Amino acid sequence: MYFYGSTDVNKNGNLEIGGVDAVELTRQFGTPLYVYDVALMRERARGFKQTFEDLNVKAQVAYASKAFSTVAMIQLAEEEGLSLDVVSGGELYTAIVAGFPVERIHFHGNNKSREELEMALDQGIGCIVVDNFSEMELLQTICQEKNVKVSILLRVTPGIEAHTHDYILTGQEDSKFGFDLQNGQAEEALKTAIGFDYFDVLGLHCHIGSQIFETTGFLLAAQKIVEKMAYWKTELSFEAKVLNLGGGFGIRYTKEDEPIPPSQYVGEIITEVKNLTKQRSLTMPEIWIEPGRSLVGDAGITLYKVGSSKEVPGVRKYLAVDGGMSDNIRPALYQAKYEAVLANKPLAKASETVSIAGKCCESGDMLIWDLPLPEAGEEDILAVFCTGAYGYSMSNNYNRIPRPAVVFVENGKATLVVKRESYEDLVRLDLPLK
Ligand SMILES: *Cc1c(COP(=O)(O)O)cnc(C)c1O
Repeated sequence: MYFYGSTDVNKNGNLEIGGVDAVELTRQFGTPLYVYDVALMRERARGFKQTFEDLNVKAQVAYASKAFSTVAMIQLAEEEGLSLDVVSGGELYTAIVAGFPVERIHFHGNNKSREELEMALDQGIGCIVVDNFSEMELLQTICQEKNVKVSILLRVTPGIEAHTHDYILTGQEDSKFGFDLQNGQAEEALKTAIGFDYFDVLGLHCHIGSQIFETTGFLLAAQKIVEKMAYWKTELSFEAKVLNLGGGFGIRYTKEDEPIPPSQYVGEIITEVKNLTKQRSLTMPEIWIEPGRSLVGDAGITLYKVGSSKEVPGVRKYLAVDGGMSDNIRPALYQAKYEAVLANKPLAKASETVSIAGKCCESGDMLIWDLPLPEAGEEDILAVFCTGAYGYSMSNNYNRIPRPAVVFVENGKATLVVKRESYEDLVRLDLPLK
């Protein structure tokens, strides 16, 4: 069950990822270590793109780089012909350093600063997803000052909140993101935007949530938006060229999660939009999507060295590893669940139930509760699966723990793509008192 993508067990009885021995990786690069199965990331990217091609729909599949933004990852996204979402000047900068074609970058965020917007315009950004009225005004001012035109999408909130296993319909969405579709905000924003010469309004954007396991929420959002699109065509003579339905496609963290394949998400979305637009005599827009987690999440595995243990008699056994909330804050932040094996004996039968603790000074720094494992001791290597999204990108230096290295593996070859932080790195920005 753990062996998906290119993970396997090799002849030494060790976990193997991308044809490389995981234990060997820890000897070479140390622990904790993020390891990415490159073939699996390619497969995921191609899965999304292929469905659009098969159904002959113009599309952009934009990798939401906040899930894992590093130069090598962005270069991989470029190799696979993806577009790119960024949400800050730092992510944009990373993409530029990676040499990503700027015209395929989309800039998101609910509080883009003047500096960030100027940077985006100076670089020739592909599209800015305008989130609110203050941003619209600021962007108008900057476009006039610079005398440059920019393509925009309007982020709308259709009143649908999708959660992992259900969705909530709200008349008016209480969200910090976007223009409300129901109360007229979106229409007011659209009027302003299409009346402004420096904007090319490509269309509309919405993102209804994350780790979603069904298509209903996406289809409902599409329905609400297309309904408005039809109205705006009549009232404002505006026809959207692009409908961006965001990301949020769920992945399998544990055996309880049952994600549907990219082809199904995309297939159902396309069919719905085709039908809806046909019914209303609208031109079929380009469909853009923005997967983050579903492109990189299950391709990442974190390797830790097992350290101390503590038995609380009659309650539980804690097993500590040499990382924790500094490299994976998701369990502490939102009770995210993971599965793990010992990389040096992945097939050994579980003989006890342990809870995996991190090494940070925080009781909440627990990575996995109640994990069945074979007896494990110091120097065993714990492999935690599906840490590829929002792991490294949310990593931090709490307790002045250096951030781990990142290695890409593919076809038996390991490539270091992010160096391990050193103690010198930790004090690099510090200045002495005198
Ligand atoms: C976070 C985010 C995504 C990606 O979400 P995933 O759950 O990682 O797929 C896409 N679009 C927008 C606007 C986002 O904020």
